[in-house]
Amino acid sequence: MKEIKAPDYCTTLVGWRFWKIRQNPQDGILWLRSIVRPDLWPPGARFEAHGRSAPGLYEQNISPEIHSQSGIYAFKSVHDALENLDRVCYRGTFLGKVNIWGIIQRHHFGYRAQFAYPLALCLGICCICKKIVSLRAEPFAIGWAAYHFSDDFSVSGFVCEGCNEKYYSLEAETGYRELSALAERYGITIE
Ligand SMILES: [Zn+2]
Repeated sequence: MKEIKAPDYCTTLVGWRFWKIRQNPQDGILWLRSIVRPDLWPPGARFEAHGRSAPGLYEQNISPEIHSQSGIYAFKSVHDALENLDRVCYRGTFLGKVNIWGIIQRHHFGYRAQFAYPLALCLGICCICKKIVSLRAEPFAIGWAAYHFSDDFSVSGFVCEGCNEKYYSLEAETGYRELSALAERYGITIE
């Protein structure tokens, strides 16, 4: 008989996560992307842990096991997320809320979950000076590879107002417009 594992939680929890945003070179459409793995989060569809596994391996690999590293990571609070800013390179990323459900493992930092979908984008981390910026309250820009300066100085992602003025000189409205278009496609909010 097949072993059935009871999920730790049956309801949806809200955690906090960092995302990169990436532009599809073909159509210029923006996607949310994981930080550590190069996984794109599909708009309108749940993101799955090990979503790219071969069909036969799907069921074995999908669950975040207690002693494994698998699953979709989420911090339990914005403070837990920001405390980890220096441990992984979060420059140029966005911090926001994520819905998680399915099998969920609890950790001191937060959770590892089976399924996830973004809920809101709240803060940006400047890719140059690492300033933490409120997306609702402060101007910002989104820098792309097209604006890279040289092979030695190549940054992309979220840019604070000061660094934008200094290095990019992008129009202030453009970043918010680009992000709003992304939020609309994903059906998420900017808070
Ligand atoms: Zn900056």
